[in-house]
Amino acid sequence: MEVYSVPGMSRPRFAVASKEKYRPVAKGESFGPSWTTHWFKIEIKVPDSWLKVEPVVFNWNCGNEGLIFSEEGKVIQGLSGEERREWILPASWNDGQWHTFYIETSCNGMFGNADPNDNIQPPYDDRFFKLESADLAWINPEARALRLDFTVISECAKEMPPNSWQKHRALEVANAIIDSFDESDVTSIARCRDIAAQFIGTKANSPEVFKPDQEALIMGVGHCHIDTAWLWPYAETRRKIGRSWSTQLDLIERYPEYNFVCSQAVQYQWLKEDYPDLFERLKVQIKAGRFIPTGGSWVESDTNLPSGESIARQFIYGQRFFEANFGIRCKTFWLPDTFGYSAQIPQLCRGAGMERFVTQKLSWNNINNFPNTTFNWVALDGSQVMCHMPPGDTYLSSCTVEDIYRSLNNHKNSGIDQTSLLLFGYGDGGGGANSDMLERMRRARGVADTVGEIPRVEMEGNVEKYFDRVEKRTDSGSKLVSWTGELYFEYHRGTYTTQGFVKKANRESEALLHDVELLATIASLTVPGFKYPKQQIDEVWKLVLLNQFHDVLPGSCIEMVYDDVKEIVKVVRGKLESLLTSCYNSLGLSGGGELVAVNTLPWARSEVLKFESISATTSTLSQDTKDGKYVLLESSGSSLVGVGVAAGLPLVTATAEEITPGVFQLSNGQLKVIVEGGWITSMVDITNGGREIIAKGREGNQHVLYDDQPLNWQGWDTEVYSLNKKKIVPPGEVSILENGPLRAALLVKQRISEKSWMESTISLDMHNTNSAFSSYLEFNSEIEWHESCKFLKVEFPVNVHCDYATYETMYGAVRRPTHYNTFWDVAKFEVCTHKYTDFSDFTYGVTVLNDSKYGFAVHGNTMRLSLLRSPKAPDAHADMGRHSIRYAVYGHAGPINADVVKCAFNFNHPLKAISGGIAGSIEQPFYFEGPQNVVISVIKRADDDEDVSTDELPTKKGKSIILRLYDSLGGHSYGYIVSKFPIKAAYRTNLLEDDGEEIKPISRAEGTYALPISLRAFEIGTFRLRIK
Ligand SMILES: [Zn+2]
Repeated sequence: MEVYSVPGMSRPRFAVASKEKYRPVAKGESFGPSWTTHWFKIEIKVPDSWLKVEPVVFNWNCGNEGLIFSEEGKVIQGLSGEERREWILPASWNDGQWHTFYIETSCNGMFGNADPNDNIQPPYDDRFFKLESADLAWINPEARALRLDFTVISECAKEMPPNSWQKHRALEVANAIIDSFDESDVTSIARCRDIAAQFIGTKANSPEVFKPDQEALIMGVGHCHIDTAWLWPYAETRRKIGRSWSTQLDLIERYPEYNFVCSQAVQYQWLKEDYPDLFERLKVQIKAGRFIPTGGSWVESDTNLPSGESIARQFIYGQRFFEANFGIRCKTFWLPDTFGYSAQIPQLCRGAGMERFVTQKLSWNNINNFPNTTFNWVALDGSQVMCHMPPGDTYLSSCTVEDIYRSLNNHKNSGIDQTSLLLFGYGDGGGGANSDMLERMRRARGVADTVGEIPRVEMEGNVEKYFDRVEKRTDSGSKLVSWTGELYFEYHRGTYTTQGFVKKANRESEALLHDVELLATIASLTVPGFKYPKQQIDEVWKLVLLNQFHDVLPGSCIEMVYDDVKEIVKVVRGKLESLLTSCYNSLGLSGGGELVAVNTLPWARSEVLKFESISATTSTLSQDTKDGKYVLLESSGSSLVGVGVAAGLPLVTATAEEITPGVFQLSNGQLKVIVEGGWITSMVDITNGGREIIAKGREGNQHVLYDDQPLNWQGWDTEVYSLNKKKIVPPGEVSILENGPLRAALLVKQRISEKSWMESTISLDMHNTNSAFSSYLEFNSEIEWHESCKFLKVEFPVNVHCDYATYETMYGAVRRPTHYNTFWDVAKFEVCTHKYTDFSDFTYGVTVLNDSKYGFAVHGNTMRLSLLRSPKAPDAHADMGRHSIRYAVYGHAGPINADVVKCAFNFNHPLKAISGGIAGSIEQPFYFEGPQNVVISVIKRADDDEDVSTDELPTKKGKSIILRLYDSLGGHSYGYIVSKFPIKAAYRTNLLEDDGEEIKPISRAEGTYALPISLRAFEIGTFRLRIK
């Protein structure tokens, strides 16, 4: 046995590592430190005296994860320390000859490198792993079989109902086995197995036990949840996939009844890149229906924080991968471990061809017990999917008798249908099933068919077959109960806020991807020679989708992961900037001398933008500032380009003044704001009857430091009791920073604690009376943050009374209570929001806009935006350091309206300044004519266009544009998509761009084309417009 210890932290593949210089090594040596890689080269010869013995196994335990390779570099199977330490040697090796193989070990456990007794603490850097065993052994299969017989029978004695005769019989049989067993007489094993057969039957040692195919209540589903990054980095996940899936392929080959279900297209992509031979073996078993891809998404993403379009792309990139590589599309959305599920998920997954959904995470709720296990889950628009939450309450079952009983007894809808899925196999860190689990399932089935009582299990592992049967038994689900709206997870509420930088990068990338796709689409149809950069756009999307994994975006990974994420974010930013520049150049927007602004939203708007230098002769309205000039730019809804507003127009300017010592006033004719020490003591909406926005006697923009000590899971959790213990950040020093005419701003300096401080600007821009939008008061804070278990939030007690508030969610909005009437209301003391949160009564409303935050609460009349957390596990340095945070307060007449939604889009897609620009005459190519609650969210080229397609799926002739629209506020809407491009043909499609109903465009006199469409309340509609 020899070893090659790879220097540093690199992870060379077999082809490289096998050629390195190896040194002799012996058992007892230790390997490390954490995260290093060590390759072992092992030569073995089965002793002559064993040559008739079969099977011979190689027993390996180095305490860490390993992967066996053949001498030629073919992947054989994974090893994982204690849980999996045996490799059954090929029978051909019982030939008295020497044979060579390799083991690649990585110095981490299944759950990374933290203290095994508290593995969500930050990992140790210096963990070493001792090589305990590297032995040849021959095993007695009958002895092992007896151990499993006995285990299952003794579990039956414990778990069967007290009043059942089978329970007493199990105890009797177990005792008889013990009494007959003689450790000095190997023949006693056979006698004991005969006794066991009285309880488990005679076929429980073979796949025959599952025949004849009798109806079973529980379907076993082999699974292996591999977190795409969590307590280990992405690079280690790539190897976990090789280890776990090779092991599962081995089991599939050895156990004919065993099928394995596996999600996340990115992991298949990585396998294809890193282990091509394994990928080919996988394809064979996928074709045979034994290795079953599921979930239809790129990663098992978070579903609270990503935008609706991100989730659509998770499905599009996932389903296209499965279709292009395996010729299949998944029918079930599979998300066992994600921290809550947005109300629009049923609609989105149906749009991607999945009408079924499996999760179980809600069983972790820490306040209310979720009442259903098999039910219809209904989206905001009324569309629904059939949902099953395996009542075993785990996706990591070890197939114990207890798990089997739980699958029956915890089924909350068993009055309608008693069947359930049992998800088994090691997971989170990968692994999957082992042979013990499969043997247990055989025996459990044997018990059910021999003595009964225990529910019968089957091993199809075929989730589709399971749902087919439920559909049949429930009249296509019509007998099942329904749950409408979000599946709020009453746990892990800190994940809306932890690791602020990854959330900010996510929002920013989502916005820029929208802009790039729009501009590139226009360029690809109007600029000769411009090729739609699909390849680059795909690359960026896939990186953004990767970082939406359900531990990465929520902030629950170790520091090492976030080091990688920071690098990915840099790459994404770089690629998006260069794509934008290339679009500007191609569209002729740059290379001139004008001040222009690109408006990527299809409505009129104006904004104050800063330019570093402008020519002195410019006639546009401007304001000097310390490092440049502010200019007001205006874009009409029909033009893509905004230009400077000429000086001399009757606009109301913004002013800042100190009205009495320490009391400052910002005003712009529409809003009059009083600021004291950084707190807003009054904010009057002059144009709306002088309505005071701030609650009487209270202060807005008050920062509060809450004590944030959850019971466990620091990075994940914040608890309701944290709201009781708080300190208000004291007021600070205020000075005037800008004094109009375009922007009035105050600078506020505050100390948060001895270690942390905050410098904020509170600004008000001039009120453009030509604009459809009211003004908002904007806050930009630079925060230096060095706290421990503190939660910083900013609060606005407002002069509004209503029992619900409206939070933006993916492709829609949800109302949540502002009171704690019931435990279900209390549980939502911290919820997820997107770009806006609106709190309105009948006559007036206040909206808090943000560009990167997700945690929010409205309780009583206080609106509370969550800013920063400071958990110390699993990342000891999470969120420490500098943050730039931007939010705004926007008042409006009446309840929430379409301007609120648009204003939130404006805030997240600011006009893009080009100082050496050319105004040109590029038109917005599309807009929606009809109710203003309908938003065009995406304009992109069709994935299957022959000049665009990047994968092996069939292409379509011509050039097409995909438009996605949604109703943002909940109203059935009729109207027209108006196109400046001639439309040759148009179809309504699903998210996967499959053509549905054809729509006839109407040619209009002014040269535009109108497409009549309708959307249900909160419906997401996708349309393919063929242009050329
Ligand atoms: Zn997970």
